[in-house]
Amino acid sequence: MPELAPYAVCEANSRGRRVAEERPAKRGEFQRDRDRIIHSTAFRRLEYKTQVFLNHEGDLFRTRLTHSLEVAQIARNIARAMRLNEDLVEAVSLAHDLGHTPFGHAGQDALNRCMREHGGFEHNLQSLRTVDLLEDRYAAFDGLNLCFETREGIVKHCSPENARQLGELGERFLAHTRPSLEAQVCNLADEIAYNNHDVDDGLRSGLITLEQLGDVTLFARHVAEVRQTYPGLGGRRLIHETIRRMINTLVCDLIDTTADNLGRHPVRDLAEVRLAQPLVAFSPGMHEAQREMKGFLRTHLYRHYRVLRMTNKAQRIIGDLFSAFIAEPRLLPPQYQAASGGDQARGVADYIAGMTDRYAMKEHRRLFAVGEI
Ligand code: MG
Repeated sequence: MPELAPYAVCEANSRGRRVAEERPAKRGEFQRDRDRIIHSTAFRRLEYKTQVFLNHEGDLFRTRLTHSLEVAQIARNIARAMRLNEDLVEAVSLAHDLGHTPFGHAGQDALNRCMREHGGFEHNLQSLRTVDLLEDRYAAFDGLNLCFETREGIVKHCSPENARQLGELGERFLAHTRPSLEAQVCNLADEIAYNNHDVDDGLRSGLITLEQLGDVTLFARHVAEVRQTYPGLGGRRLIHETIRRMINTLVCDLIDTTADNLGRHPVRDLAEVRLAQPLVAFSPGMHEAQREMKGFLRTHLYRHYRVLRMTNKAQRIIGDLFSAFIAEPRLLPPQYQAASGGDQARGVADYIAGMTDRYAMKEHRRLFAVGEI
């Protein structure tokens, strides 16, 4: 690994862990964070949680696990090229969706609606709650006891109300300062990953077509380039050659634009990064192209009637589960009845958020289907 840039996060400028621990042998603190994340139960559950398509709809679609791996791959490339802390971006990327509910965004929206009277539900904060509290594997602490900078990277956005409850982690949302460059990289690597893999999965599912994508600047430009280089190429190879070029263009644009920003607004260290404007960014043209792609996916994929049928059903499942557990908390497994310091709704939300898609469906059948227990 190249030597870290002066403005990168390193062990020397880290704010450390909440519970002090001895330094790990033969690996760094951020490697240890990554390793703890990979060994967590919540991480293994990502395999069976929906990204856009329900897990059982096809074996080749992204799940939240493969999405997280793609984010980590993209973020690591960017971090290495910019001499940022690659171990930290890997840890943040792998942890960023640990708190996601079953059934993708539909699940999160449904649970948020259920929790409206009880402080709401936000998957970012739930990811933090998972690594700070819910994982129960270590003798000396709850959660994974991750470094401040890893936890900071997980909380991408946060209302002022929630920020006040987060202590030092919430400070930046109230003071309007920035997180580390590593956290900023992960945020945009997430965007690059999902825009591109949703195009891929959307095409694979047949819900969107190459013809429709011809109207989207970023796609049109790259598919034309592939067709010119390989006339007659079609099918999966045409799609993949286009998508790999899109990812590459976005990653290179991000690295170049960020280098320009760092040239124009020099920062000497991490403290100055926190006080500067957001420095990790796409160029204005690429930002606009990304926005156009997101708009396309929203209209044609996320709101496709077949996706909406799935999300509608998912919302009903989550709403039913929540109502049943709130009405009769004794239906909950005992560890969730006692959890969350008497905040029953939060205990229910923790239980539901931790479910995989198929576990939620099974639990729904167990509670509601006649003849099944
Ligand atoms: Mg994500």
